[in-house]
Amino acid sequence: MPENIFEPFEGNTFNFSCHKGIPCFNKCCAKLRLILTPYDILRMKKRLGLSSDEFLERYTETVIEDHSRFPMVTLKMDVEKNRICPFVTEQGCAIYEDRPGACRLYPIGRASTMAYGEKDAREKFFIVREQHCLGFKEEKAWTLDEWLGHEGVNEYNAINDQWLEIITSTKDLGEKDATKKFQMFFMASYNLDKFREFIFKSKFFDLFEVKADLKDKLANDDVDLMKFGFEWLKFSLFGEKTMKTRFHAVPS
Ligand code: SF4
Ligand code: SF4
Repeated sequence: MPENIFEPFEGNTFNFSCHKGIPCFNKCCAKLRLILTPYDILRMKKRLGLSSDEFLERYTETVIEDHSRFPMVTLKMDVEKNRICPFVTEQGCAIYEDRPGACRLYPIGRASTMAYGEKDAREKFFIVREQHCLGFKEEKAWTLDEWLGHEGVNEYNAINDQWLEIITSTKDLGEKDATKKFQMFFMASYNLDKFREFIFKSKFFDLFEVKADLKDKLANDDVDLMKFGFEWLKFSLFGEKTMKTRFHAVPS
């Protein structure tokens, strides 16, 4: 029977420490099915100095998961090196300060849903107790809040939850232009360079009212652009009133 590695987070603390001297060092960074969020991709591509296209091509795969009607993007493991993560080095993670949210949270897992109209996600935490991970035998004890703060998870969750609202929405996508809608989802979620090109090089600003200061931010700030993309997706996929139109038309 497969080992059940998910344990409800009970009690106030868990013992854990991960450091270079531990015998299992780096063992957890291989053979992963690691789903990347838009914010993960933004941070990693910036860290590596790559365009969105270059990052997606070099480091990701697109997958269709059972639990989502939208395409997801996973981190491509290195098939020539026994499927280790491409960012593992002898010293640890080469992109540590910009590692994905799931890597930050580990060995904690978070199940979350974002109900329509609610400000905060409903969340449940659990411990991922894998046998190879010796970090649980260490003495250092953490409360959940201490761990989330120490690993910089809260910033990731706050942004990712805005995207969660889109991917878990049960709103009807309509039958028309389904392929175009999935392409739009992919671009606004994962390919920020293309999304910026789309809004600045199409008739977007003739068709939608966007204040001058926000327009400046969209030109220069990737996080603002990404959040704007989420609002755009709610409008273009589900017809929510998140955009102010000048005319009743959508750019092609
Ligand atoms: S298996 Fe656990 S303790 Fe070992 S490197 Fe990974 S997270 Fe750290
Ligand atoms: S991104 Fe870094 S922490 Fe995450 S799996 Fe790869 S090497 Fe490990």
